[in-house]
Order: sequence, then C-alpha cells, then structure tokens
Amino acid sequence: MYKRSSYPKLEINLSKLKHNIEQVTKKCGEQGIAVAGVIKGCTGLFPCVQQFEAAGVSFIASSRLEQLAELKEKGIKTPLLMIRIPLLSEVYDLVRYCDASLNSEIEVLKALNEAALSQGKIHEVILMADCGDLREGFWDKEEMAQAALMVENEMDGLKLIGTGFNIGCYGSIMATPEKLQELVDVTEMIEDRIGRKLEFISGGASTSYFRVLEGNMPERINMLRIGEVLLLPDFMYGEFGFDSSDLYSDVFTLKAEVIEVKDKPTHPVGDIGFDAFGHRIEYVDRGIRKRALLGLGKCDFGDYNELILNNSDMEVIGASSDHTIVDVQDAFDKGIEVKVGDVLSFSLNYATIVYVSNSRNITVEYV
Ligand SMILES: *Cc1c(COP(=O)(O)O)cnc(C)c1O
Repeated sequence: MYKRSSYPKLEINLSKLKHNIEQVTKKCGEQGIAVAGVIKGCTGLFPCVQQFEAAGVSFIASSRLEQLAELKEKGIKTPLLMIRIPLLSEVYDLVRYCDASLNSEIEVLKALNEAALSQGKIHEVILMADCGDLREGFWDKEEMAQAALMVENEMDGLKLIGTGFNIGCYGSIMATPEKLQELVDVTEMIEDRIGRKLEFISGGASTSYFRVLEGNMPERINMLRIGEVLLLPDFMYGEFGFDSSDLYSDVFTLKAEVIEVKDKPTHPVGDIGFDAFGHRIEYVDRGIRKRALLGLGKCDFGDYNELILNNSDMEVIGASSDHTIVDVQDAFDKGIEVKVGDVLSFSLNYATIVYVSNSRNITVEYV
C-alpha cells in the first residue's frame, strides 16, 4: 500500500506549545481573566488541543464547528465555545457539541433556543457588540439590549453569560484601554436593562492580551479569546514592542525536500504572458544563479511571501501549486551546498500555519 513520504512535513513541538499556553493562562489568571484558547490557527489538530486542555484554559474555542464537534467526540472535557457567529443551518449541531457561542442575530438566537429546548439543554450565549472594528456584532446597542432582554426573559433554552467584542481583525482597531472600556460601558447599560450582572465580558483576542502585560486592562474585562499569541508569540510581541523571551516562538517548523538544484537564468526566456495563477509578474534579471526547487507549493501554504526560511542566505523567489523556488546562490557562495534530497526548514507566521495545518499533502509530526 502507498505510504506518503514524510515530506513536506509540519513539525509541532507540543511541550513548547503547552508552555506558552500555561504562561499566558497564568498571567491572565492573576488578573482574574479567563482564557478561551483558540484552536483554529492550527486547525484544531487534536494533540495540540490536548495541550490547551492540559494547560487549563477555561474554554476551548474555534470559528469552525467541525473542529469543535470532533473534540467532543474525542473526549475533551473543557467547555467548548464557538466564536464565529453560527450559521442558521448549523444551530442544531452547535447546541449538540458546544457549550457556548458568540451571537449577534436575534433570528439565530431564536433558532438556537429551539434547538436547545428540543435537546433538553441550556446553551450559553455571549452577545457581541461592534465597537468599531466592523466585522460581527450589534452596531445598534439598543438592538443589542433588546436581544439581551429577549434571551433573558423569553428563551428558556439559552443562558446569557456575557458580552464580547472583536477588534483588530477587519478594521485594524487597537485594543486600547479606552476601546475596551467602551465594551464595559455597553455591558453595564445592558446589565441595567436586564437587572443583573453578567458573568463574562469577553474583551477580544490576542491583541487585548497586551493590556494584561501592561496591567491596564479595564477591571471588568474578564475573558479573552486567545490564539495567535500562544502559537506564535514573537511575531505579535515584536509588532507591539514587547519582549517574548519567556515564550517559545518555534512551536511550528515546516520542512520541505529539495527536488532539483540547477544554475539557471533569473529572467524567464521567451515571450512573457501570465503565471500559473493568471497573474502578470515582473521578473528581475540577476544573471545566472543557483536555485533549488522544493516539493511543496501554494496549495500547501498560500502565499510564498509569507514563508520564512530559517537560512537567511536563501530566498524564496516564487511558487506555483506544487513547487517552490528558492535562490540558494548566496548560501552556495558562503560554502553551504544544497543537494537533491536535502531538507530546508521554515518558520511560520499565522497565515501559513493555518494553511499548512489544513493541507492534506503535509505530514504532521509531533516532537
Ligand atoms: C480568531 C478569533 C479570535 C482569536 O484571535 P487571535 O488573534 O488568534 O488571538 C478571537 N475571537 C474571534 C471572534 C476570532 O474569530
């Protein structure tokens, strides 16, 4: 029977991942903040999810129901939180597999309530406010208050456990203390209307975690939904000017095999039309240079500009569906020889981890 080669390979260091989750969960815990560990970045790979559970997150969260459903079936005990507004067409399974979800549509809440009642369950909901990032959430806060009153008074299958918002995803809005306070204010308005305090105020994602590090999180924010910082600390820490030395930034490594090494011109030879994806490309003529071809491509990682070669004397110069071209001339000039069958390794950023962990062509190995 055919057995796939071990390359291309995604190596995942589980103990480093667990360390990162433990550190972040501990820092949040010290400030009374619950962590919903977001697993969508690594496509809910089960051994990774087990690290989230072992590290003691309060919720395991994903934007994809299929990832969460699988966890329930495999025995994960941590409460599961669906963080993308549910499809109206998936509410029955959502209630079946998840304990809680983020919501912004009364129509969906009604359907969720029906699904919960029909299964004899109580499904927990967090209502999402939109405070300017302009993806999901109630823009009209009166509409949000009406939804809260409806869940509170008319929907016995649902329990309103809190409010939340998302920032930094579409509108690039920063998680400033003032912006987070806006969510607290909206929440307190809703609490006045329903006549009780809510358990959770879910103040965003990884970008809000920097308020924990700085110690300037508005007091009532007590839940964050964190993914990226756990998987790839250095990228975000660097962007926000923080030191990530207590976390591991090399949880994920992508390895690819060299399938051809040749000296070739750098400018294509012939009449130039379009590349394999229908784009017109500008090619720079740098003369004859040594290049290595790798056996993986855009189908595996999306955009080759997002790949980070671990050898800085090599450069990814292009890719098609199943091939990636690396200029290895500078490395060669420094005495580093690349041969057919060699393996080159890459660090990943968030976009490439999502692709690579989703690719059927890639062997995942846990170390
Ligand atoms: C993806 C997502 C998160 C986690 O974002 P990170 O930047 O990976 O921490 C949180 N909340 C929602 C609604 C999301 O879709």
